[in-house]
Amino acid sequence: MEKREFLYEGKAKKLFRTSEAGLYLVEYKDDATAFDGRKKGTIVGKGVVNNQVSAHLFQLLERYGVPNHFVELIGDREMLVRGTRVLALEVVVRNIAAGSLSKRLGLEEGLVLPEPVVETYYKNDELHDPLINYDHIRVLGLATPDEVETMRSMALRVNEILRGYLFDRGIDLVDFKLEFGLSEGEGRLLLVDEISPDTCRLWDRATGEKLDKDRFRHDLGGVEEAYAEIMRRLIG
Ligand code: UDP
Repeated sequence: MEKREFLYEGKAKKLFRTSEAGLYLVEYKDDATAFDGRKKGTIVGKGVVNNQVSAHLFQLLERYGVPNHFVELIGDREMLVRGTRVLALEVVVRNIAAGSLSKRLGLEEGLVLPEPVVETYYKNDELHDPLINYDHIRVLGLATPDEVETMRSMALRVNEILRGYLFDRGIDLVDFKLEFGLSEGEGRLLLVDEISPDTCRLWDRATGEKLDKDRFRHDLGGVEEAYAEIMRRLIG
């Protein structure tokens, strides 16, 4: 398997074709953005952490039968993934109020929700990724009703698995964002993108300290250290 032509550069990753049909190479960058790209910076070593942590969590989910695009790690900041058509949706699961939920519903940050909340957002930069409901998804043709149901149940299953796994490592899983794609050929719904301190809120259970991208978003300092701490607790 060889790395072939560059295909696409996103905010945090680059995508390359490989010599093998249906397999793609993802390279994780240290670039960080927040607030719709209005804040830009670098988190030294983030690409390595997010690559390794995502690989670790995708493998964990695979063992629990949650299908995802991860194939194998091939470098510090590179992984091999299966090709998919990525849906223009972000699925967020929340256990504790924070971020946009706190703002939208006036809930104090840190309030433990009586049950997990699943939200869907339309991935559209011009519209600033609006919150949308299942009718909107159908009307826009972003996913079928079956796919929507499957994404919801997969997201809740991922939440159960990750929440327990992180709890055992002294971390509260506050909320996280998932993306889904339809596999090339079969059209099977797979978890794609990444699962990392960029896409999850992770709080130390003992101290409440934030160990995620909120440190960068809100200039809390100790950003690199927080990412390294998550890698240490998950992978050692
Ligand atoms: N999130 C993400 N990418 C996005 C938006 C949100 O990974 O484009 C993650 C974010 O890190 C958090 C969760 O999804 O773990 C919920 O984010 P929220 O809606 O509270 O938005 P934010 O406060 O991050 O703007």
